[in-house]
Amino acid sequence: MAADHETRELVAQSCRILGGLGLTKAATGHVSALSPDGKYVLVRARGRDERGVRYTTAEQIIAVDFSGKKLDGPDGLEAPQEVFIHTSLYKARPDVRCVTHIHPSTVVLFTICDKPIEPIYGAYDPSSLDMILEGIPTYGRSITITDDELGRDLVAAMGDKKVCLMRGHGITTVGASVEEATLHAIRLNEAAEMNYRAALLGGPRRIPDEDIAHFRNKREKRGGSSGKNLEAVWRYYTELSGA
Ligand SMILES: [Zn+2]
Repeated sequence: MAADHETRELVAQSCRILGGLGLTKAATGHVSALSPDGKYVLVRARGRDERGVRYTTAEQIIAVDFSGKKLDGPDGLEAPQEVFIHTSLYKARPDVRCVTHIHPSTVVLFTICDKPIEPIYGAYDPSSLDMILEGIPTYGRSITITDDELGRDLVAAMGDKKVCLMRGHGITTVGASVEEATLHAIRLNEAAEMNYRAALLGGPRRIPDEDIAHFRNKREKRGGSSGKNLEAVWRYYTELSGA
């Protein structure tokens, strides 16, 4: 039970970080994690007594089963209607232990205008460049994911990637840990913010092919995204957002 509580704390902290950084609109969005034994899902609840993403506490995290049914928690808190984003990903992908789903306005603008997020910087932020080079898929429908079938469609659009844009809606990110999935969301937002601001300034350029090859090479040698300094980066965003 101690491990269960620790996971609830971590999911709540992820919500507070994403909310504190202004990455989602009002109360929209939720983070979840697999329970330590992998038998159920711990997810931010919605409903009458919720406090909003930014103010989420461990008490606002409820357990649901893999069909999205609430297993515990008070009357005023329910599973989010889009709980199927979470359950579908856990059922389909053994690599996923955490899912975030939020509505970051700058990222959503790219789906509205059908503009790609381009590799316009390198050393400024290699980890978000990595994500761009990996390819960022988009789920093309703008509706809420309210059943298993829509959940499966989203999973198919996302493929084996860590992030997925959702047209006119938001983003979904996954990770092997709460920290990882949360940082993917922050990095995706950073990539979109920089692309957006560069477009406003006018004439953004992709970095040279030679530099793209350099970063691809580094990534291959590492065997995937960098998990380096994960704890330190997590600590930084915790303090920055007051989470
Ligand atoms: Zn949503």
